[in-house]
Amino acid sequence: MPELPEVETIARGLANAINGKTIDFVTVLRPKVALPEPVRFARELAGERVAAVGRRGKFVVLTFGSGRQLVVHLRMTGRLIVQPAEATILEPYTNVVLVFRDGVRVCFADVRQFGRMRLVEPEEAWAAELGLEPLSHDFSYEGFSSLLAGRTTPIKVFLLDQRRIAGIGNIYACEALWAARIRPNRPAGTLSKPARRRLHASIIDVLRRAVEMRGTSVDDYVDADGLRGGFQNVLTVYGRDGERCPRCERPIVRTVLAQRGTWWCRGCQTG
Ligand SMILES: [Zn+2]
Repeated sequence: MPELPEVETIARGLANAINGKTIDFVTVLRPKVALPEPVRFARELAGERVAAVGRRGKFVVLTFGSGRQLVVHLRMTGRLIVQPAEATILEPYTNVVLVFRDGVRVCFADVRQFGRMRLVEPEEAWAAELGLEPLSHDFSYEGFSSLLAGRTTPIKVFLLDQRRIAGIGNIYACEALWAARIRPNRPAGTLSKPARRRLHASIIDVLRRAVEMRGTSVDDYVDADGLRGGFQNVLTVYGRDGERCPRCERPIVRTVLAQRGTWWCRGCQTG
């Protein structure tokens, strides 16, 4: 599932391709993926000019000149692919197509059809439930530390909770905990102050490096140009059970926490 670095990369690619462009028309091929209902969705979007493309948590957000926003959640296998005007066939599994006045298209493609596009009015507080952005100034050590206080949830499960910190998923939770040398099942509220400091710094560092490398392609993820990311080449623990820990050489193990595969090293993640 695309996490912060992948969604950020997609949003940047889209911004390059469609910023300032006006939507000519929209075709909804699979009604359940769009809100409001298809006829209104298409009618309302036609004529909107893209003022900005950004990201909030794991959502891609297109902001229009009118102040309305198109909020896209890619879920498991969703893709937003830019096609030039001369392209003759749609991206496979396309559910919605945005066609711009210069002929450029954005295909919202999704094999599993869990992804969603939602048009929201300027006054709708659609992101009210989302937590801190870990790459923003709001994500201070003090703020992070106070979120952990008193929590009995395993730290890894806590990191996945989008209402606390937005954008971290399974890959970067595992990687940040390894970098900070913290056991994934440790209750969040019991981390020592040095461990909280290490984890705060590791979250930022891992996410920044992954954004620089344009995300992690361990499954279907590709950017807006259809290209794979690079961070899968530098993963230390995620998906690497049986391989040696790069820090202490013990074998990486896979355990299950809250129904999610969790990769870590028993040798050095003892904090
Ligand atoms: Zn180790």
